[in-house]
Amino acid sequence: DAIKEAQRSIIRVTEFATAHELADLMGVTPKEIIQHCFTMGKFVTINQRLDKETIELVSLEFGFEAEFVSEVEATEVVELEDNEEDLVIRPPVVTIMGHVDHGKTSLLDYIRSSNVVAGESGGITQHIGAYEVSLDGDRKITFLDTPGHEAFTAMRARGAQVTDIVILVVSADDSVMPQTIEAINHSKAAEVPIVVAINKIDKPEANPEKIKTQLSEAGVLVEDWGGEYQCQEISAKQGTGIDELMEKVLTEAEIRELKANFSREVPARGIIVEAELDKGKGVVSTVLVQRGFLKVGDPFVAGHTMGRVRALMDERGKRIREAGPSQPVSVLGFEDLPQSGDEFTVMLSDKEAREIAQKRQIIRREHEFRRSTRVKLDSIARQIKEGLMKELSVIIKADTDGSIQALADGLMKIQNEEVKVQIIHQGVGQITETDVLLAAASDAIIIGFRVRPNVNAKKLAEKEDLDVRFYSVIYHVIEDIEQALEGMLSPEL
Ligand code: GDP
Repeated sequence: DAIKEAQRSIIRVTEFATAHELADLMGVTPKEIIQHCFTMGKFVTINQRLDKETIELVSLEFGFEAEFVSEVEATEVVELEDNEEDLVIRPPVVTIMGHVDHGKTSLLDYIRSSNVVAGESGGITQHIGAYEVSLDGDRKITFLDTPGHEAFTAMRARGAQVTDIVILVVSADDSVMPQTIEAINHSKAAEVPIVVAINKIDKPEANPEKIKTQLSEAGVLVEDWGGEYQCQEISAKQGTGIDELMEKVLTEAEIRELKANFSREVPARGIIVEAELDKGKGVVSTVLVQRGFLKVGDPFVAGHTMGRVRALMDERGKRIREAGPSQPVSVLGFEDLPQSGDEFTVMLSDKEAREIAQKRQIIRREHEFRRSTRVKLDSIARQIKEGLMKELSVIIKADTDGSIQALADGLMKIQNEEVKVQIIHQGVGQITETDVLLAAASDAIIIGFRVRPNVNAKKLAEKEDLDVRFYSVIYHVIEDIEQALEGMLSPEL
């Protein structure tokens, strides 16, 4: 059996693939899938979308293991191998992180305004979400213009890693703060190297040594103390130490030997950094090119949308004909708004780009439709009657351990012939995004007992259309669940 297990090949499939799609992936006929479903007591047609469990079982039966991927991943454009001779050193892409008010924006602004290319009239005038600066000796650095780790992590959650180096800003007149620690943890989790910038050294009360001590306690031992992290004292306000900081970033980049394919023959690829709808121009989106050269006229697919490059503009507002690796460029020509973190890929033809985008849209719509049939407390009685539900999964978040215990005891006592209540997660504290994701993934309802969701969790619960209920009396929870199981609960308004 162990050998069988090891031999099983993996198929990358979306959560609600059709019998037809699944058959194609496994190289069998749809008829075989339908017949197999029939033996499991399920009647399906060729274009009917299956559920996760069925896909899992059916693939196992045919000797495959299903790996569930998003519609974008499932329709990803096959990557070509880069030719070794096309790989050339590219500029590093840098994100500035740190605690609020420690000087992230000031640093970005200083670098932006000081970088006036010789012979050109203007510096960087446009906020396109990223900009590239030129240093002595034809060296360049690309900065992502959104400071902080939220954007960084949001992109990473979508599978896009664009940052090569993090500049961690810590104010010398303050301390290592919670967001400093978060920035360190996020960078380390992403395995992105950190260069420390101790800011505001112009202030009389600045105490860089204290900051270094605190950083070492947070797992960041700086170089002059024998550690591996480069560190520079700066003043983002007066410009002190900024050149040195840039040198250190470039040294870090050299160690990493960051390379990209600079061939003009390969179709360009990049990541969406930012996108917005402009009244006059339509969709304007910034793409950070990662491979090849993006040119005017190129057809492309980006996330669930597509288009053809109508115009390219740099961060100085100048129209350009092409953009190469590590170069951020503002692109016109999208049919619809992409999302930051979406992959952007040049295709051979409009037709090909449209086919992929349409396929992704169709699958997304189907998924949304499926997700809209989530478990709701007020409709579970009907689902029980129809035999659709045998277990009610519940997540409990409460103010104290005592409350959780009392609730759990109460819920366990609820007796119903058809359905049992299952507590899949419980904890003290606010309802968080992780709770909501867990509920969405396991079709559970969330009970908040004398606690509320945080802002992000609330938004996510709305988006995922999840049933979150709030109580402050234990008896009311038990009563609601009991009534729901008997079909007497009226919908939450
Ligand atoms: P952010 O929240 O990290 O983006 O911080 P900001 O860049 O907005 O800076 C917060 C405050 O610190 C502002 O009032 C800045 O003027 C000030 N500041 C930033 N850098 C320096 C510096 O090097 N020296 C001094 N004295 N003040 C600074």
